[in-house]
Amino acid sequence: MCGIIGIENNENASILASAGLITLQHRGEESAGITISGMKKMKTFKSMGLVSKIFNEKILLNKLPGTAAIGHVRYTTSSKSSLINAQPFQINCIHGNISVAHNGNITNFLKIKKKLLRKGAIFNHTSDTEILLHLIAMSKGDLADVIMNSLRKLRGAFSLVILKDKTLIGARDENGFRPLVLGKMGNSYIIASESAAVEVIGGKYIRDIKPAEIIIIEDGQIKKSFLYKAVRKKQNTCIFEQVYFSRPDSIMFSKTVKEVRVKMGEYLAQQMNGVKADVVIPVPDTGYFAALGFSKQSNMVFENGFVRNHYVGRSFIKPSQCLRDLTAKLKLRPIKEVIKGKKIVLVDDSIVRGTTSKKIIDMLKNSGVRKIHFALSCPPIISSCYYGIDTPSKEHLIAAKYSVDDIKKYLDVDGLTFLNLDNLIKSCCINGESNVFCTACFTGKYPTKVLKDTREESY
Ligand code: SF4
Repeated sequence: MCGIIGIENNENASILASAGLITLQHRGEESAGITISGMKKMKTFKSMGLVSKIFNEKILLNKLPGTAAIGHVRYTTSSKSSLINAQPFQINCIHGNISVAHNGNITNFLKIKKKLLRKGAIFNHTSDTEILLHLIAMSKGDLADVIMNSLRKLRGAFSLVILKDKTLIGARDENGFRPLVLGKMGNSYIIASESAAVEVIGGKYIRDIKPAEIIIIEDGQIKKSFLYKAVRKKQNTCIFEQVYFSRPDSIMFSKTVKEVRVKMGEYLAQQMNGVKADVVIPVPDTGYFAALGFSKQSNMVFENGFVRNHYVGRSFIKPSQCLRDLTAKLKLRPIKEVIKGKKIVLVDDSIVRGTTSKKIIDMLKNSGVRKIHFALSCPPIISSCYYGIDTPSKEHLIAAKYSVDDIKKYLDVDGLTFLNLDNLIKSCCINGESNVFCTACFTGKYPTKVLKDTREESY
C-alpha cells in the first residue's frame, strides 16, 4: 500500500508535498520520496524511513527548489523493502524528464514485462511500476496521447501522479480500486490519495478523480480531463479502505470515513442485539469509531481500555524475534481500572492472521477482564488482495482455513461476531448505490483477472 501526492504552480511545492506525505504516512512507512521540477532541472530525493526523518528543513529548502512536486510513501513486505524500489521513479526519455508515483498493483505487469524484456528493455527495479515508465518512453504523440496509450495497456489497480516539467498529471484505473482526489489551494491544484492530505496543507477538496480519468494540470489550470477508455467497467473501489486503511477524516463517496465506521458499529450492534456487557472498548486506532457507533446504537458505555504507544514503528519491530514477540505489548497496554472484573464488547476492524488479536485478548485476560465478546467491523477475510494491499497469502489468513466457531475457540473468547457483507456495504454506500465496491477479500470474487504470482511484487 502507498500514499501519493502532487502539487503544481506553488513555490513551496516540496514543503507542501512533504507535509502531505506526513498526512499520508499511515499508507506507507518504509520509504518516502519527492520529485521536484518547474524551476531547475527535475530532481528526485528519496530514502528509507519516515517522511519527517527524510525531509528535514535543510533538504527541503536547499535541495528541492521548484514549483511542481509529486511525492510517495511506500509500504511493502520486509523482504522487498529496499531503496531501489522507493518512488517516485524519475526517467529521462524521448519525452524529456518524467517522474511517476504509483499506488496499487498492476495485475498484468509480468505479461508486459516479459514482452518488454524480449524487445531488449532493461529493468532496474523489481516493482510493477517500472513497466509504466517503459510504456511511456515507447509511446508516441503529445503528453495526453502518451499517457492514454500507456494506461490502456495496464490492468489492475493504479492511482498515479505523474510530473513532466511543471505539468502535473493524475490518473486512476478503470475500476477505481485505490482512492485519488483533486483539491485546490489558491492558484495551485493538488492531487492526493486522500482528501485529508489536501486539507492539512491548506487546500480544499473538490472531487474524486473518476475511474479511468486522466487529468492534466499546468499553471493552475486544468488543461485536459478525459477518460482513457471510452467505455469503462463498473467501479470497484476497495471497501477495505473504509474499514481500515484510510484516515477517518478523509472523504470517500461524499462521506467521511469516520461517519462510515460509526455506521459499521451501529450495524454490528444491531447484529448483536441481545448481547449484554458492561462496556464497549475499541482496539486503537481503527476500532475507535466503530466502537463509538456500537455504543450509540446499543446504549452500552464506551470506554478507552488501552493506552497506545505511537512511537513503535514497523522497522523497529521487525529485526529480531525477541522484539516481534513484544510487539503487541509495546503497542497497546490495557488500562486495568477500566476492564477489571468487567464483561466487555471489544471492537476491532478485522482479523487477518489472528495472531495479533490473540495477543490482545490474552493481554486483556491477564489484566482481569471477566468476559469478552469480540466484534469485527468487517466480514471474515478469506482471500488475498491483488490490488495493492499487503494481506498475507491465503494459507496465512485464519478465516480462509477455519470456521467462525474454530476462530472463537482459538481466540478463547465468549462471543465472536463479524459485520456481515450486506451491512458493511450498507455502511459505505451513498444514495443507495452499493454496486461500486471491490469486496474480493471477503468473497473471493475478484473484479478482474488475477495471476497469483503478481502478488510477488505487490505493494
Ligand atoms: S481484495 Fe479486498 S483489500 Fe483488495 S482491493 Fe478488494 S476489497 Fe480492497
